[in-house]
Amino acid sequence: MDSGFLDHVTSVLAEIEAAGLRKVEREISGPQGGRIAVGGREMLNLCANNYLGLANHPDIRRAAAGALDSHGFGMASVRFICGTQDLHRELEQRIAKYLGKDDAILFAACFDANGALFETLLGAEDAVISDSLNHASIIDGVRLSKAKRYRYDTSDMDALETQLKQAEADGCRFKLIITDGVFSMDGHVAKLNEICALAERFGALVAVDDCHATGHLGEKGRGTPALTGAGNGVDIVTGTLGKTLGGSMGGFIAAAQPIIDLLRQRARPYLFSNSLAPAVAAGSLKAIDIAEEADDLRAKLAGHAAKFRKGLSEAGFSLIDGQTPIIPVMLGDAVLAQNMAKELDARGVYVAGFFYPVVPQGKARIRTQMSAALTDEDVDFAIAAFGDAGRALGVI
Ligand SMILES: *Cc1c(COP(=O)(O)O)cnc(C)c1O
Repeated sequence: MDSGFLDHVTSVLAEIEAAGLRKVEREISGPQGGRIAVGGREMLNLCANNYLGLANHPDIRRAAAGALDSHGFGMASVRFICGTQDLHRELEQRIAKYLGKDDAILFAACFDANGALFETLLGAEDAVISDSLNHASIIDGVRLSKAKRYRYDTSDMDALETQLKQAEADGCRFKLIITDGVFSMDGHVAKLNEICALAERFGALVAVDDCHATGHLGEKGRGTPALTGAGNGVDIVTGTLGKTLGGSMGGFIAAAQPIIDLLRQRARPYLFSNSLAPAVAAGSLKAIDIAEEADDLRAKLAGHAAKFRKGLSEAGFSLIDGQTPIIPVMLGDAVLAQNMAKELDARGVYVAGFFYPVVPQGKARIRTQMSAALTDEDVDFAIAAFGDAGRALGVI
């Protein structure tokens, strides 16, 4: 191998290290949960997307184990060759029914669902109008399509209107607005009612990536279309099985039948990638059954979020207001955010600091996420640990 190339890679790594941006992975030696085993210590976990605490649910484990026995370990095929089992179709129809759409199509991940959506459905004569804070997979998906690209400042409805007018002035055939349902770094919910009203005025379609909402927000956990009341004004929903709905892996798109049928014919991440493992499909089916009926867990989650927000505000921390279980504790400085994470680690609380380029310069934070896997005592413990750590660093 050309040693010049390895020298180059090594120097890029050194730059990442020097900028203080190297990500270190801590190893968990047991299942995901409210409390996790990290390096021989038990820690409180405030940074998983395990909102309803289903990631290690015994009924889901049992369903997955059952499918392992009845349907085997792997499919060794894409869906259209010999990778479609009854379980896959059952899961697609279950997702569609849950979200009130005609049908759904599975992908290996929501990253792939977003990689498929725009390139398959839109051509060069069409427009994608995208929120500036949309997830990386949406940005990459939009890049793959030939459609004209328009961007609006996050949740700024005047800016969205301006972009819709521009797309119209540019003579675009179809216009598709795409937004995260919940923005994962700030925890705010997209203004879906206003977006759908603008879409109707301008004859645009609306697609929502509801990864941080499906299962735990809105009536029965049907996500931000239910939470905001936008409902069927949202034409297309993309989502994940890797967060609230059991947390294993897999993504999907749910929409009207012809949209799903065309994706099945043309979506490249679907056509050229292996089928979901049967155990994942069966476990996810069980997870949807549980999530749909889990008003108790949703109430617990909302209660934790309210308590944690109140506790941290009263302690003097600066938060971003919101109605989701994502609670960012704003620290500003990247080094301070990292030190805060270390202080919390020393107190048995596992959190992640986020700083530039994941969030804007000067807006470093600890992003916390509540989970129904936590107890009331856990939340009290976390508030006390934040207070101690904040005082130790002079933050509060
Ligand atoms: C997590 C997430 C994804 C990726 O989902 P995977 O199934 O893990 O690939 C996509 N979009 C948003 C908004 C997310 O939060």
